[in-house]
Amino acid sequence: MRIQGLQKLTLLDYPGKTACTVFLSGCNFRCPFCHNTPLLTADAADGMAEEELLAFLKKRRGLLDGVAITGGEPLLRPELPALLEKIKELGYAVKLDTNGAFPDRLEQIVRAGLADYVAMDVKNSPARYAQTVGAAEFDLAPIDKSVSFLLRGTVDYEFRTTAVAEFHDDASFLSLADWLAGARRYFIQCFEPRQTVLQADLHAPSPAQLHHWAELVRPNISNVSLRGI
Ligand code: SF4
Repeated sequence: MRIQGLQKLTLLDYPGKTACTVFLSGCNFRCPFCHNTPLLTADAADGMAEEELLAFLKKRRGLLDGVAITGGEPLLRPELPALLEKIKELGYAVKLDTNGAFPDRLEQIVRAGLADYVAMDVKNSPARYAQTVGAAEFDLAPIDKSVSFLLRGTVDYEFRTTAVAEFHDDASFLSLADWLAGARRYFIQCFEPRQTVLQADLHAPSPAQLHHWAELVRPNISNVSLRGI
């Protein structure tokens, strides 16, 4: 398996851990606000060899304690469980980022003990999901299955929503509060405008707006935090 990017140190990507971040290419969504656009279409055959990553991780044992796996959508890769097994054999905790579109693969990885923490994007209310992932139509069932699986608490997890002024409003967060009720952790992340996102004319909500949305969610999810403000 090849790796399309490695950030050798992050204190942010894996809560509570000193970690590195591994980027895997390919995604089944086209979120207009995506920050990782080069990864969406990058060839999975390009990039760093898996052996190089594992050699790096062997050397960093004792200095790093976690590996954050992100994308793109990492669960698109059939070879992912084999890579995670090797990372776990080296003694690292694994955090997996996912858009929730592959609930069966997610559950298999968790049940095999190959992920210690899952961060799932829940992009918007069901009514605005298609628009928010850049699709004309959207089947929400796989996303809902991933949400239900994580809510059962088999693995430690967070849900998170990147809030974009053009896509989110009060109704979005009231609906998300119902959908994710009882979640262990929920983060509302502020969109950061960049030239490289798929749709150039998007805006960040104001800090006051984000605080207001967090308050709308709190009756159903006690542990709500804001990121990026
Ligand atoms: S799911 Fe993530 S990686 Fe895929 S397009 Fe959306 S923001 Fe980008």
